[in-house]
Amino acid sequence: MVDQKNNKSQPGQQKSPWNRFGYGWLYLLILALLIVPSLLTGFSSPKEISWQQFTRDILSRQAVEKIVVVNNEKAEVYIKKEFAKDTMFRDVFKPSFGYGIKRGPHYTFNIGSVELFEGKLKEAQKEFSINQEIDVTYTKRGNWFLSVLGWIITFIVMLALWRFLLRRSGGWGAGGSSVFNFGKSTATLVEKKKSAITFNDVAGLEEAELEVREIVDFLKNPETFTKLGAKIPKGIILVGPPGTGKTLLAKAVAGEAQVPFYSISGSEFVEMFVGVGASRVRDLFKQAKEKAPSIIFIDEIDAIGRSRGKGAFMNSANDERESTLNQLLTEMDGFGTNSGVIVLAATNRADMLDPALLRPGRFDRHIYLELPNMKEREAIFKVHLRPLIMDNTIDIAFLASQTPGFSGADIANICNESALIAARKKKGKIGKEDFLDAIDRIVAGLEKKSKIISPEEKKIIAYHEAGHAVVSWLLQHVDPLVKVSIIPRGKSLGAAWYLPEEKQLRSKSAFAEHLCATLGGRAAEEIIFGEVSSGALDDLEKVTREAYMMVMYYGFNKKIGNVSYYDSTGERNMGIQKPYSEETGEIIDEEVRKLVSDAYQQSLDLLKQNKANLQKVAELLLKKEVIFKEDLESILGIRIANPQNMGIATEPRSKTLEQV
Ligand code: ATP
Repeated sequence: MVDQKNNKSQPGQQKSPWNRFGYGWLYLLILALLIVPSLLTGFSSPKEISWQQFTRDILSRQAVEKIVVVNNEKAEVYIKKEFAKDTMFRDVFKPSFGYGIKRGPHYTFNIGSVELFEGKLKEAQKEFSINQEIDVTYTKRGNWFLSVLGWIITFIVMLALWRFLLRRSGGWGAGGSSVFNFGKSTATLVEKKKSAITFNDVAGLEEAELEVREIVDFLKNPETFTKLGAKIPKGIILVGPPGTGKTLLAKAVAGEAQVPFYSISGSEFVEMFVGVGASRVRDLFKQAKEKAPSIIFIDEIDAIGRSRGKGAFMNSANDERESTLNQLLTEMDGFGTNSGVIVLAATNRADMLDPALLRPGRFDRHIYLELPNMKEREAIFKVHLRPLIMDNTIDIAFLASQTPGFSGADIANICNESALIAARKKKGKIGKEDFLDAIDRIVAGLEKKSKIISPEEKKIIAYHEAGHAVVSWLLQHVDPLVKVSIIPRGKSLGAAWYLPEEKQLRSKSAFAEHLCATLGGRAAEEIIFGEVSSGALDDLEKVTREAYMMVMYYGFNKKIGNVSYYDSTGERNMGIQKPYSEETGEIIDEEVRKLVSDAYQQSLDLLKQNKANLQKVAELLLKKEVIFKEDLESILGIRIANPQNMGIATEPRSKTLEQV
């Protein structure tokens, strides 16, 4: 559907001067240069003879007109004209072309050395009593044929190199990255009616869809708006986590609006040469204006739109980015509001963008896309299940309930992965199990049943996972446990799966209990084996990060108070410039350590009180390898979870699993 490079004149298809006249003439010339001299020299070359032949047949008959010694190596013998009709010399007087007689040289022979030649010649003259003084001249002659050949070969090599470079860089002026086309925009143009994606392919983004649908209306019927005096927005920026459908939404706009759609990624403006980015922006807007009404879509705009003049170290790459951004700002101001070019942009990091870009008049509208909720996930599943062949065990609502925190892209991936899994099992239809396997695979990686684990290690892993399971079962604010496994997957040796509730806020106690549950694995190891292992690395990393977040970001710590060192702009380099004093830094470290050790102590206490249950869960795990919620219920009883569990969700708590 995409598919035409933007340059309206299609320079890639233009015939280059070489192509236009063909290479034929060039090849002919080369051939001529190679062949003609050899023809000429071949036909007119003198006859090679020996010294004896020379003295016996030529010198003795006094037929020599003159001798020319070339390069002190060869003697060329010219025969007197009056011998032209002599049967002996008739052949050598035959001309190469046309009529008349050949002027010579007629014979040639090697002389050995000049002294030798001169001595021998004198002796021979004496021997044959020739009184005539023979005219001997000496000359130096270069091999012009070889030098011409060398020149031709150099020329051919250079020509081949030139053609190779042209082809590597996209042809003679073709596309944006050609040697001659650095400054040209590399945007892909999706022509009218070519984009196959419509709003039917986008699910669960109702509000966002409504907003972008308006763009389609602006472009299709601008008068409806302008007659009331309204100005058509110039830019719309789509902001959201990866995979939430920003690009998809933009493609759907292209499909629905039926106007030319220029799609480019922010990074495509950036080239190693200064000024190229700005020139590409200019070119892109020029083309879009020529084809107005049209849409420009800039994906990952943060590549050029980052705040100017910030960052600790300025360098030339920064200058280039800034000049590209300045050009973008100018262009967005430049075209009149109603010129019919609408700019769509997408980014994961709106907080990093330059405020000038986001002000009204440029990107007027900001559309925030979030990770889909349960209902939205159901709708996205419906879109991606359309092409799949499934059996009747599939319950879409169940699938949506099992995938909290998953993005649209994750869901698309699950659907595809489940089809691959079913195909691998040689099934005719995809079943529920395949979907669950696909979810597990995406969450935790590929199952590695062949990994060799000793029975002792297996026991440690089982107790570690059982520790997570028991502690989280006993704490109210921790997400409900779905299953526990000691089958190695991806990098992990075992894992506990949780199903996070869909909530926007998390309370302080929810954070504290989460620390506790995460440390449950290590606590279990200490209680049962009296020693801890390296298997808790991942847990400790999570715990440390979360504890620092509690103290530094959320103001959960009394000593630090309601202060947050969170930097939503991402501009501060915490490693270099800390926003707090040395003393505060020490207090933070101390409080974090205290938080973690309190959580660990709580875990130890809980597990000591429930040691028998811990052992039962671990034994069951060792026996079955994977145990589910129901197995835990049979050992630990029905879990009472707190429905009022609240907290600030800082990162999607999706796909939560505690791994060894
Ligand atoms: P990034 O920020 O990483 O570029 P994005 O937000 O642009 O991500 P898309 O490229 O639009 O994400 O989404 C990737 C794929 O995920 C889409 O091709 C589509 O298959 C699927 N997808 C995402 N969101 C949705 C949705 N709301 N409805 C249907 N499919 C979706």
